Amino acid sequence: MIIIMSSEITDAQVETVTQRLKAWGLESNISRGVERTVIGAIGDESRIDKELLQALPGVEQVIRVMKPYKMVARSYHKDTTVIDVKGVKIGGSQVQIIGGPCSVETQPQMDKAAEYAAAAGCHLMRGGAFKPRTSPYTFQGAGIEGLAMFRKAADRFNLPIVTELMDVRQIDAFLQYDVDVIQIGTRNMQNFDLLKEVGRLSKPVILKRGMAATISEWLMAAEYIAAGGNQNIIFCERGVRSFETYYRNMLDVTAIPVLKKETHLPVIVDPSHAGGKAWMVPALSRAAIAAGADGLLVEMHPTPCEAWCDADQALNPEELVELVGSLRGIAQALGRTL
Ligand code: PEP
Ligand code: MN
Repeated sequence: MIIIMSSEITDAQVETVTQRLKAWGLESNISRGVERTVIGAIGDESRIDKELLQALPGVEQVIRVMKPYKMVARSYHKDTTVIDVKGVKIGGSQVQIIGGPCSVETQPQMDKAAEYAAAAGCHLMRGGAFKPRTSPYTFQGAGIEGLAMFRKAADRFNLPIVTELMDVRQIDAFLQYDVDVIQIGTRNMQNFDLLKEVGRLSKPVILKRGMAATISEWLMAAEYIAAGGNQNIIFCERGVRSFETYYRNMLDVTAIPVLKKETHLPVIVDPSHAGGKAWMVPALSRAAIAAGADGLLVEMHPTPCEAWCDADQALNPEELVELVGSLRGIAQALGRTL
């Protein structure tokens, strides 16, 4: 950490800073320039309270040299992490398509969805049993019954299941139905107590990007999960809120190479919640895979116009088949399979 002192400082102020650093177990390297004194803090930066330093008299600016995230950072873990979900690898050479409806509705709907997802080449299935809806008057999800329906439908096709956890009180049910991948939704990306709890589990976690979260905040959210002992984390870019109203969210394709550089963990993209319309999904999906995403989380409903949630962004089964086919060539060009 580098501490830049203001132009008119006293020796006592420099001494206060160095004493404070010493109390945290760090050494100081003082450089006195013509106009500025700069103090370099040498030692474990994580012990420093940046805000407290910044509040000391004579301190103008405090700059971190080290990244605030450790366990999720590629600089701490050079090898790319591949996450194994019941034998399905996420983050390896195979691009994974996770398909399924926005929400679990009925058993026949889930049975059909599972059949179509498997037929299209998906190796994992999505579906929300607990739904974070903007309005409290709309369908809130089938709850625990939904988990049961989902498990039953997916098991017939050997598909591991991905579903959203909204509250720590749902964890027992998630374990009871052996949910394979826990999704932390956009609205909960910074629900730190929830992150700490999933950090204590060994289940893989898909961590969606917050509505307006910076990449650094997103990485720190993942660090919460990793710090608890669970390093099976998959980042999911699903678009961020912008000034534009034509589409639901702005897909941040740039985040894909940035995350690939910053973290060793897999990165997938949800083109459905980004575009918000089914017709945008193929183009966004192709962009995501071309940019290096390890997979997609796509909404597909057996009959989209009957969907109880997010009807206009769901692909129909044929569209999902077509999409997967159109992605194969892109994956191959990158030396990957699909
Ligand atoms: C979802 O995947 O069903 C969902 C609610 O997504 P998000 O958290 O990205 O809005
Ligand atoms: Mn949805």
